[in-house]
Amino acid sequence: MEITAQEILSGLREWVEIESQTADVEGVNRMMSKCAAEYEAAGAGVERIPGVEGRGDHLRITSAWGGDGPGILVLCHLDTVHPKGTLAKDLPFRIEGDKAYGPGIYDMKGGAYIALCAYRAIAAGSTPNGLPIRFLYVSDEETGSRTSRRLIEQEAERAKYVLVTEPARDGGRVVTGRKGVGRYVMSARGRPAHAGSKHQEGLNAITEVARQAVTIDGWTDYARGITFNVGQIKGGTADNVVPEHCSATIDMRVLTVADGEELDRRIKALKPHNPAIELTVTGGLNRPPFEKNAGIASLFAHAKGIAAEIGFELHDLSTGGGSDGNFTAHKVPTLDGLGVDGNGAHTLHEHLLISSLVPRMTLQKRLFESLS
Ligand SMILES: [Zn+2]
Repeated sequence: MEITAQEILSGLREWVEIESQTADVEGVNRMMSKCAAEYEAAGAGVERIPGVEGRGDHLRITSAWGGDGPGILVLCHLDTVHPKGTLAKDLPFRIEGDKAYGPGIYDMKGGAYIALCAYRAIAAGSTPNGLPIRFLYVSDEETGSRTSRRLIEQEAERAKYVLVTEPARDGGRVVTGRKGVGRYVMSARGRPAHAGSKHQEGLNAITEVARQAVTIDGWTDYARGITFNVGQIKGGTADNVVPEHCSATIDMRVLTVADGEELDRRIKALKPHNPAIELTVTGGLNRPPFEKNAGIASLFAHAKGIAAEIGFELHDLSTGGGSDGNFTAHKVPTLDGLGVDGNGAHTLHEHLLISSLVPRMTLQKRLFESLS
């Protein structure tokens, strides 16, 4: 018997109702336990990798078939951006027509859960003989995968294909390109002084950072797909004190590795306008660009063929948002956006489309079975 959308949704609801914001290690680890138990019950091998640096555990899950050779790597994350309490207050699990709402339901518990359903469906069938499948369920994607990146890159070494269960976009499109992402912190240290009586003795760290912010903002070049965003700025202690400290966070997006390297050098070479102020820039390109190459194009063509057999038309797109697919795409054919269709990622109207559950699960299942 084929699984129904209602059956998928009732299992997924249990995942969504375990809140798991990245920094909430207890919540993330409860979510990992739930996921591990369900894969174990389906006969998969589960290894739990303890969390470090204030992050939750990761799971490496291995199919019961296929052995140790090169296989399919499936990348999922179980952390969300929604703080604990969102479920009770702002975004309870609920269904309205074709939409199911809940924290992380679209990004990406929906996609991560249908991967389990696809695995179960194959495991329950007659002796599976496809490529081995290794799933990574990581705990820190939403904050840049600092503690899981090495694991992802290691697993990619023995992968023939990488499938990422991030949400589908714009009516079910999969993702075959993503910008590279750089994250920086700029800090300035000036000299504090009384803003009334000793103003001339102060060196204003906020003014310095503000001038740098304008410069960095000017590097945005939409035609080349380059953007800079000074997203947070902090500084000062009181209205009447010349501020000694100021810091700003900067988010950079690029389409090509060459642009990433050039701009990384440029931001790190910034000099203070006032040479008496100490200016430092830390950070770097934390996700390299995911460029659609020939291997990715042919993997997409394969998926498109499967979708046509299932009964829907599959399109692809390139997006500005990064994912763990950025870590693998330059080495292994990678197809992203294989999760559920919906909208409102990272917002309080986050939802999936119930009608996408079975087709997307079937797409993942047939990819697992047919890639060779
Ligand atoms: Zn995501």
